Amino acid sequence: MTPRATQTDTQASLRENFASPGPARLLVLGGGGREHALVWSLAREATVEAVFVAPGSDAIGDEPKARCFPDVSALDPAAVVDLATREDVDLVVVGPEAVLEAGVVDALSDAGVPTFGPTRAAARIEWSKAFCREVAAAAGVRMARGRDFKALDPALAFAREIAGARGSRGVVIKADGLMAGKGVTVCDDFATAESALKALFAGVGETTKPEAQPPKPQAQPAVVVVIEERLIGVEASLIALCDDHGALALPPARDHKRLLDDDKGPNTGGMGAYSPVPDLPESLCATLIDVIHLPILAELARRGAPFRGALYAGLMLTPEGPVLIECNARFGDPEIQVLLPRLAVPLGPLLCGAAQGDLAGAAGELGIQGRILPTTGDAAVAVVLAAANYPETPRKGDVISGLDEAAGAGATVFHAGTKRDGAGNFTTNGGRVLAVVGLGPTIRAARAAAEEAADHISWQGMQRRHDIAAVLPRAAAAAPAADSPDPVSEKAWTGGGAS
Ligand code: ATP
Repeated sequence: MTPRATQTDTQASLRENFASPGPARLLVLGGGGREHALVWSLAREATVEAVFVAPGSDAIGDEPKARCFPDVSALDPAAVVDLATREDVDLVVVGPEAVLEAGVVDALSDAGVPTFGPTRAAARIEWSKAFCREVAAAAGVRMARGRDFKALDPALAFAREIAGARGSRGVVIKADGLMAGKGVTVCDDFATAESALKALFAGVGETTKPEAQPPKPQAQPAVVVVIEERLIGVEASLIALCDDHGALALPPARDHKRLLDDDKGPNTGGMGAYSPVPDLPESLCATLIDVIHLPILAELARRGAPFRGALYAGLMLTPEGPVLIECNARFGDPEIQVLLPRLAVPLGPLLCGAAQGDLAGAAGELGIQGRILPTTGDAAVAVVLAAANYPETPRKGDVISGLDEAAGAGATVFHAGTKRDGAGNFTTNGGRVLAVVGLGPTIRAARAAAEEAADHISWQGMQRRHDIAAVLPRAAAAAPAADSPDPVSEKAWTGGGAS
């Protein structure tokens, strides 16, 4: 089958035309779908000569200019510094959060290697929800009303207060620490919050009965729990490239967390994503950068933990305006898979600029104006294909068929968890296995492209959703009724401030 010329190719050649100086030799850390998208994107830039990846994957190693080091652990600071130095790289780009927590960026920084990714002290904003709330409060960034607790009894009293408050929609209980999306319980009522709190504090508080305790999640030795009011709205994310005090936003994106259609089933790492987000117009994103990202960067710098890397703001678009619900210290997965194919400028020079504290200079050289990176105008939709038994115990080793046909249909397929077997076939090797990305002039067209391509791919027990980007919230540009606040209006920010 002759592959159709994809819009992705068109977009890539757009970026190849930029002669702006960028990194020639890069090292990308990680080996999942996010890193495949990063390598795919960087390898297509004119100034890039080589993209080294640790550990990478079989599929990543197939990208042009890419070379994987499967024996180098991205979590081993000494091994990463050694590889970066040996290969004389201009820039290291960090993918997963675990690499940040392992102190790899700190080691690279000590060795004088420019790195896109925050130090451990700055990345704490991701894995400590209590720290994130503290920084947001000091920076005047609005989050849900809430507090953190180290003991059961005061936590129960606060949860009761939140649940009983007039107009309450419920309580959210969050374990502090990197919990891979499994540390949050959204509770409709106090009874559910009570059992969630007792589970988290099992063995810590004096009032719990040992025989009634569910297993304790292994967050960190001292249990810290954040309790928040439950917000009602639609979620979206806004990720920005940051350098200590400056931020440049990627377009907004929205992911689909639940395993099954109609937002049913268990939470996952993300079963699909789309960009742009009709109810989060790019004009508002510029305001959000001013009222969320920049104040947080300033506060982190003030605390001696300047942030260089991707600052991910998870937002709830409520009737009273967007509210920050979490910060991550890296690119979102699968959000980045729909963001990178939309970019009309090369990423390498911007990541390099951010890593060296001169994001504004790098943006200026590329002729970028404003706070949002320019796009090709295409929309993008990613449909994630997951292994049998995901998210509990994903089955490995199932042979994947239809990859060539999917590529022939014009989609880009990013590999999140695959491995080549002895016969040369790709097989499942993780929970989320592939992200099939379609592009088009509208979200509807991009969705059709992704769906059509995903239909070609199968393996035993494959799981996917069929409603990614199927129902789109009303565009925010539609005028709101006079008596109902615009969900994303700038004025909704007045009076904001963390509780
Ligand atoms: P992830 O690993 O998916 O990034 P996380 O474990 O870091 O998640 P949060 O992002 O804070 O935790 O919360 C996970 C999900 O819980 C959110 O995407 C949202 O759906 C829900 N949630 C969190 N806080 C609230 C809140 N205050 N009100 C309503 N829902 C919330």
